[in-house]
Amino acid sequence: MSGFEYEAIVVGAGAIGPAIAVGLARQGRKVLLVERDWREPDRIVGELMQPVGLRALRSLGMIQAINNIEATPATGYTVFYGGEKVAIPYPYKSDVAPFKPLKGCVFDGNDKVLDDSTISRKVFEDGEREMGVSFEHGKYISNLRKIAKNESLITCLEGTVSSLIENHGEIEGVTVKLPDGTKQNYGAALTVVCDGIFSRLRKSLNENHVPKLNSHFIALKLKNADMPVKHTGHVILGPNFAPVVIYQITPTDTRALCAYTGLQPPKDIKKYLAEEVLPYLPESLHPSFKEAMKDQLKTHPNSYLTARLNDIPGLLVVGDALNMRHPLTGGGMSVGLGDTVLLLKLFEDIPNLDNRDAVSEALLEFHAERKNLDAVINILSIALFSLFAADSYNLKILQKGCFKYFQRGGDAVNIPVGFLSGLLPKPYLLTWVFFKVAFYSIAVNFLDNGPLLLPLSIIQIFTILGTAIAVFTPYLWKELFT
Ligand SMILES: Cc1cc2nc3c(=O)[nH]c(=O)nc-3n(C[C@H](O)[C@H](O)[C@H](O)COP(=O)(O)OP(=O)(O)OC[C@H]3O[C@@H](n4cnc5c(N)ncnc54)[C@H](O)[C@@H]3O)c2cc1C
Repeated sequence: MSGFEYEAIVVGAGAIGPAIAVGLARQGRKVLLVERDWREPDRIVGELMQPVGLRALRSLGMIQAINNIEATPATGYTVFYGGEKVAIPYPYKSDVAPFKPLKGCVFDGNDKVLDDSTISRKVFEDGEREMGVSFEHGKYISNLRKIAKNESLITCLEGTVSSLIENHGEIEGVTVKLPDGTKQNYGAALTVVCDGIFSRLRKSLNENHVPKLNSHFIALKLKNADMPVKHTGHVILGPNFAPVVIYQITPTDTRALCAYTGLQPPKDIKKYLAEEVLPYLPESLHPSFKEAMKDQLKTHPNSYLTARLNDIPGLLVVGDALNMRHPLTGGGMSVGLGDTVLLLKLFEDIPNLDNRDAVSEALLEFHAERKNLDAVINILSIALFSLFAADSYNLKILQKGCFKYFQRGGDAVNIPVGFLSGLLPKPYLLTWVFFKVAFYSIAVNFLDNGPLLLPLSIIQIFTILGTAIAVFTPYLWKELFT
């Protein structure tokens, strides 16, 4: 490697930084991992990992990061609507492609979970269905960081990256503000920016690379909640509120994320929860939800950001700094980890990352190839949020139609859960299924309206379809063709 102190500098040790640092180190590269705060994070994000995210961790030999943190295994979802519920179990392993280990990353069984107080190796490794998992974000991140710290080629540094070092339009490293207030420059052939949701460095890719705020989550931590269907994420739909997602994160703690459509959270959060949300939750959750409402509640903005081509030499932006979607479907970590695996695969044949032509070519390929998985997870999250938060008459018809569609079972569940889990990365199939749901909603609407309202039902064919197109196609375009 010519001239540079490190082959790669990774900025941020959140959900993605440690994974990419470990992967690069296991390819034999010298890496500097810079994080502004190495203490265990206390955040309400990144608590549920979809099966495709777990597969990526297997490929990286980092799956044991979910061990010894009292994580809760997840077998799928349960969707509640109007007093009814429908089960959405994760796919059978036999129905999806096997995972592929990355060269140099998998050894000593590090692609398999260990037995611990909450995780059964038998269930995860020998069970017939794919599994997901939920956990306390901070504990999981600490485990990822521990794995990174154990890699001899990774140097971990505490400090805040204040800027990137630019030379004639190319990035050659970072300037770090150290805890003692001094600033230090570090050089690298490739600077990998994964500074997250509120990234300050993403603009280095392009001035216009700015997320768009669309809603908020209000977070509650329920104690000893009586979950109606154990080991599944609960998605609760109601007449006057955006969806509520509830999942157990430890044997005693359960996370409830109540979505709220708007650029600001509600003015009186507790009143909103008491009047608009609580009455529609399954009865068994009422005591723990009411108790949790007494706590200081956290809110978090949800934003959308389409990925851009990484076309600045020496710079790679990944994770939420590159691309964001609605967190309703818990897909963010899976997208970032899927991207990490793909990048590492593309870097396998590049002996030194200072070969800028080879890296640029790999990043061009990355931008095209990542779309399959990422477009599915991103578009699905936005489409489902729009339907589940239904704030118009036509969206409410689509919401009901979607639930009734799931109730048909068989492929009406197996294919959508393939998208949700990330194991069916086929954006055109997603498009086909979305419009199938729209036509099914039209049929349900005909039945609901009855023969007397036939003329109205006929007009509604066009308004419902128009709404479906307006919800889906802009994101299809952004995700696949930009
Ligand atoms: C409310 C909410 C709930 C979510 N729930 C889920 C979920 O259940 N499942 C899921 O898969 N995804 C979820 N997500 C998305 C998920 O949290 C993100 O996709 C994921 O955290 C992105 O990882 P990252 O490494 O890019 O960023 P982050 O995890 O945010 O990590 C960024 C890191 O960079 C550090 N950093 C920032 N700036 C600097 C700097 N200048 N110098 C040094 N270090 C810096 C930060 O301290 C942090 O450690 C959720 C998102 C939201 C908003």
